[in-house]
Amino acid sequence: MLPWLGEEEARAAAEAVASGWVAQGPRVAAFEAAFAERVGAAHAVAVSSCTTALHLALVALDVGPGDEVVVPSLSFIATANAVRYVGARPVFADVEEATGNVTVATVDAVRTPATKAVVAVHQGGVPADVAALRDACATWGAALVEDAACAIGSTVRGRSVGAGALLAAWSFHPRKLVTTGEGGMVTTDDEQWARRLRRLREHGMNASAAERHASSTPVLESYLEVGFNYRMTDIQAAVGLVQLGKLDAMVARRRELAARYDDLLQDVPGLRPVRDPAYGQGNFQSYWVLPEHGFPVDRDGLLAALADAGISARRGIMAAHLEPAYRDHPHAPLPVTERISRDSLILPLFHTMTAEQQDRVVAVLREQAKR
Ligand SMILES: *Cc1c(COP(=O)(O)O)cnc(C)c1O
Repeated sequence: MLPWLGEEEARAAAEAVASGWVAQGPRVAAFEAAFAERVGAAHAVAVSSCTTALHLALVALDVGPGDEVVVPSLSFIATANAVRYVGARPVFADVEEATGNVTVATVDAVRTPATKAVVAVHQGGVPADVAALRDACATWGAALVEDAACAIGSTVRGRSVGAGALLAAWSFHPRKLVTTGEGGMVTTDDEQWARRLRRLREHGMNASAAERHASSTPVLESYLEVGFNYRMTDIQAAVGLVQLGKLDAMVARRRELAARYDDLLQDVPGLRPVRDPAYGQGNFQSYWVLPEHGFPVDRDGLLAALADAGISARRGIMAAHLEPAYRDHPHAPLPVTERISRDSLILPLFHTMTAEQQDRVVAVLREQAKR
């Protein structure tokens, strides 16, 4: 995933520097407003990363020691780590093979009376079926947090991912569609939570620097609870505003390239590409393919063949429970997670990719399928 950055972002960052306001300020507020509008949430709170967004979402839900939080193992490790930051226990749920996402059934299989929250990941930009998960979580008495790190521009039943979410966490790391270098966002419709999140990202302070600056009388801040320094800078937000303006073009281009891959891969037997689920549309942040059982070459063989042709593909999504950090962490069997993580690969797909570059990728795969 090559970020699509240009002159306009460079100029916006330079303007922020020249303005003298480089920490969290007016550009962060403008980015928050534009982002909330884009995803259809009442409030957006900018933070330093999706990892810190997930951490704050769990703090806002008062998740802590003694609580369990169901998360997919098939995710970037930050999803599980955020649960550890608040002293709770991550409980790994398996995923469905078609989307790589948790479902009501896979969460139900591992939840217990101690399950205080569920984190559903819209993995690789493929939307999770959040309508079903929201209903189920409501009956279980668990809060649903959406890890939408990869899902800006993806839709569920015609609405943006994040619309109607209790709490959704977003990432602006360069591996995601919209980037600010590093950065994240929490979105919610709940004003109380939004206020608490703003306080938590800023040391638990009752008044932000912008509010103090805007006030004609001196504002004496006080620290209402133990918070964090999870702020975004105005330089990052300036870049984010430009990037957000390009989002529709980014998604349209990625979906076009994905559709072309689909067509080309039709005559490569045994390679199943990720597709839109019936209930939504992905942004194709990751275009992954899963070799069917019996495919003549394994995933690492395919990666090697592509590398020999000068093409850099990547292994599929990681599984947190297989990492040393979680070696001693008990979990139920996770067969689909292990299969996708072991066998899938992510094909190159970037905004300026040409038809010829795409043809070369598929030519290598076609050759390998014949071995
Ligand atoms: C990238 C990613 C994160 C972490 O995002 P950062 O902004 O780098 O902290 C969390 N969850 C998922 C699913 C991701 O893909």
